[in-house]
This record gives sequence, structure tokens and C-alpha cells, in this order.
Amino acid sequence: MAELDRTGGAPAVPADWTYAPAPESKDIVTLRERYGLFIGGEWVEPAETFETISPSSEEPLALVGQASADDVGRAVAAARTAFADGWSALPGSERAKYLFRIARILQERARELAVLESMNGGKPIKESRDVDLPLAAAHFFYYAGWADKLEYAFPNRKPKPVGVAGQVIPWNFPLLMLAWKIAPALAAGNTVVLKPAETTPLTALLFCDVLRQAELPPGVVNIVTGDGRTGAALVDHPDVDKIAFTGSTEVGKAIQRQLAGSGKKLTLELGGKAANIVFDDCALDQAVEGIVNGIYFNQGHVCCAGSRLFAQESIYEPLVDKLKRRLETLRVGDPLDKNTDVGAINSAMQLEKIRELVESGREEGAEIYQPPCRLPEKGYWFAPTVFTNVAQSYRIAQEEIFGPVLSVLTFRTPEEAIEKANNTPYGLSAGVWTEKGSRILWMAQRLRAGVVWANTYNRFDPASPFGGYKESGFGREGGLHGLEPYLRFDE
Ligand code: NDP
Repeated sequence: MAELDRTGGAPAVPADWTYAPAPESKDIVTLRERYGLFIGGEWVEPAETFETISPSSEEPLALVGQASADDVGRAVAAARTAFADGWSALPGSERAKYLFRIARILQERARELAVLESMNGGKPIKESRDVDLPLAAAHFFYYAGWADKLEYAFPNRKPKPVGVAGQVIPWNFPLLMLAWKIAPALAAGNTVVLKPAETTPLTALLFCDVLRQAELPPGVVNIVTGDGRTGAALVDHPDVDKIAFTGSTEVGKAIQRQLAGSGKKLTLELGGKAANIVFDDCALDQAVEGIVNGIYFNQGHVCCAGSRLFAQESIYEPLVDKLKRRLETLRVGDPLDKNTDVGAINSAMQLEKIRELVESGREEGAEIYQPPCRLPEKGYWFAPTVFTNVAQSYRIAQEEIFGPVLSVLTFRTPEEAIEKANNTPYGLSAGVWTEKGSRILWMAQRLRAGVVWANTYNRFDPASPFGGYKESGFGREGGLHGLEPYLRFDE
């Protein structure tokens, strides 16, 4: 605690309210020097490797494998063998036991996984500890519960597993996206080959040890690391029955083209440019917290981030004032510090993309605000940013920035808010802030978004389906809806 200021007989208050550092120890994580590919329950040595680093310090963490098309072929073959040799025929209640075990081990090893997630991905430890890990475990618990109830979940439809699922995930929620993909696939009786993102492979590789502890039969889950080429080889493999992809709209479209006519099942969870709509009758301070959570959570590396704020004109000024003041209190820095609100940008490439889009915002005429904050010298950082004076046509109002950058626009009537909010190629999520229940329902019916949050933002639950409209993709993850893509219903 800072020194107390006792001058003038006034009540004693600290002269300086800055937080002392509260670093989480890295000791709980034991990193190997190099990691192989996890195929058929064994570590397979790759021909090529690449370095994975910590984005907050740029220090190398480990060498990981660059899986070739042949390696992907071996992983698919292992998954096929495991599917045919027993996993698909196992009673649902037996599959559930493995999923429950995985969920419990994730809980037991939560601290270790959370620290590693923050080291490799740059997200604040309080988020990986309080959001990513609990939700990842919750997904396994939730789908474990369905594994022996598929006949009841889909009555008279004779649900059967589709076979081998190829799953490609991004770097923003590495372990959580893995859980979103693997838990429903296994619950439905499929086997899996999963490719983590190039920049964040480490928690997926540690997850292989969780599988070992859970004694999951070999080949049921295979993890192949590598860059986009590995993902493309997996998508292309003829013996994969279903592809689940989360990532950019650009790659999603390429995958859809690649798979056209192949008969493979496909779900795409792509980008977003969500509208967070604030009416003048809302609880303003609560809305400010929701706006901050909506765009600065996970450095804005969130597909459903509330990156376009629509403020009703009558409250525009107090809202923006409050928001700017709140931004000054955000602590940007070491992801492993328990006080940190905004961590490191995931990669040099992503930082470059954010900078380029922010520059375009300035050039097009928007007004930028960034709170004073000292950014670390090493690593990839970007200060929380708010743009006002934004026109609908600006790139910062149209394109996904995927960083801690908010564009503020205004509206007068609910009709105008809908018109503007839907004026985007995306349709993943939206937020509405108002005290009127009837208005929430009116808005939710008209917003073209897969998820609409009311008086809250970025809330997730395994029981609740998540997915997009338009260029945000198709198919749902979570809930019963999330099981359907992993099942076939033919005779
Ligand atoms: P990508 O879409 O390239 O990456 C997502 C995953 O797909 C990664 O595992 C990636 O591998 C893999 N991949 C890349 N190319 C192919 C391919 N041809 N076939 C199959 N798999 C492939 O996203 P980026 O990481 O390049 O990020 C770019 C932008 O995408 C971001 O700035 C952001 O706007 C958006 N994005 C959106 C996400 C979302 O959740 N909606 C998540 C991530 C990004 P690798 O990591 O090795 O490239």
C-alpha cells in the first residue's frame, strides 16, 4: 500500500492508489524443450519444428511440431482405427465416464493450465483462471451428461456418430475452443483430429497429458500442431467426415469452397462486428462496465466482441465521458499479474493488423482516445482505444479489428439502431442496454445476430447455443444444437 497522506488533519488516505504487482508464479508449469505430435496416444517426432513464444516478453517457450500432410494422414488413420475399434460402439454411459474424468482433471489442473494459457497467449491470468478454465471444464461436464441420453435428446431420429471429426481452432481461446470442439464430438461417439493455432499450441499439448490421466483410449483424440498448411491438409483429407472450423471469415470461405461437393459435414464459426446498443433509459454505470467487458475482455480478441458501440444521442456525452474515465483505470501489462485487466496482443502479425486499422480510422477522420498508460518495452501491446466521430462507412466501423479498439456511433430511435446495427456483413452477437423488457424483446427479434445479450455482455454457458448469421458462419456450438453437427440421423 502506498504511503499514507496525513497532511492537514484530513482523514488518512493513500497518496497513490496504484496497485503493487501481484504476479502469479510460473513454477506450476513444467515446459518441455520440444513437443511432438500426439497421434494414436503416442508422441510422434515431427520432421520439422517451430518455436512458440510468449507474446508478452517475446521469449521462446518451446519447440513444437509442424505436422506435414503425411502426419495428418497418420492422425486421421489413428482416429479412424479408434472409431472402428470400439469408441463408436461404446455405450454412451461409458463415453460419459471419460468425459467426466477429463472435466474433473481440468478442474484439478486448472491453475497449471491457466498459467500456461496466459504465458503462451498473452491473456490476463484473471481471465484464463476465471473464464477460460471454468468454462472449458463446464463444457466437458455438460456434454458428458448428454453422452448416454442422445436417444432422448433426438427422439425417433436414431442418432449415430458421423465418424472422424477434423477440428481447426484459433488462438484467442485456445483451451476453451478445444473444449467446445472435442466435448460434443466425443459425447456423440466420434473420434477427433484437432489442430490448434500456430501461435498457441501449448495448452492443447498439455491437454494430451490430461487425456493420458483420464486413460482415454489411444487415437480417440489426436492433436497435430502446425500452421495453416496443417489445417488445410486436415480439411482436405478424404477420410475426415466432418470439419469444424473457428477462425477468420477469409479462411472459412476458402474451406467452404474446398469442401463443396465432398459430402463432408461442415460448421463455421467466423468473425463478427457486434453492435452494443445503449438506450438512454439504461443503468449507465452498469452499461459502461458492459461496454468495457464487451471490447477490452481478452484484448478484444473475441469474435463476439462488442466492437461497435451505439449510444442513443441523448446520453452520448455522459456515456463517452464515463467510458473515458473508466478506461483510465484499466491496468495494461504483465498477463501473469493478477491485477492486469488488458494483457498482450497475441502476435506481431495481429498487432500489425490492429495498427493498420487504427491508422485507417485516424485517416478517415475519426477522433481517437487512448488513456495514458505505460506499455512494456518488450512484447506486443496496444493501449485500450476509443474512436468517436465515426461514420458507418469507415473501415473501423465495418471490419473486424480483433483488438482493444472501440468505435462509437450514435442513433436516435430504436428503428435507427436496428438499421445501423444490422448494417454489417457479420451477424454473430449483439448487446442491448435498456430498462424496458418490451424493448429488449423488440430489439432481439430484429437484430440479425446469433446471440443477443440484454443488460450484460460476453456471457457464456455450455447449455446455450452460440453461432452466427451471414459471414459469421453457420452451425451452432453449445447446447443440444452443438451435438447435432456431430450426429447423423439416417437409418
Ligand atoms: P485464421 O483463420 O487464419 O486461423 C484460424 C485457424 O485456421 C488456425 O488454426 C490457422 O492456423 C488455421 N488455418 C489457416 N489457414 C488455413 C487453411 N487454409 N485451412 C485450414 N486451416 C487454416 O485466423 P488468423 O489467426 O490468421 O487471424 C486473422 C484474423 O482472423 C484475425 O485478425 C481476426 O480478425 C480473425 N479471427 C477470428 C477468430 C474468431 O474467433 N472469429 C479467431 C481468430 C482470428 P494458423 O494459426 O497456423 O494460421
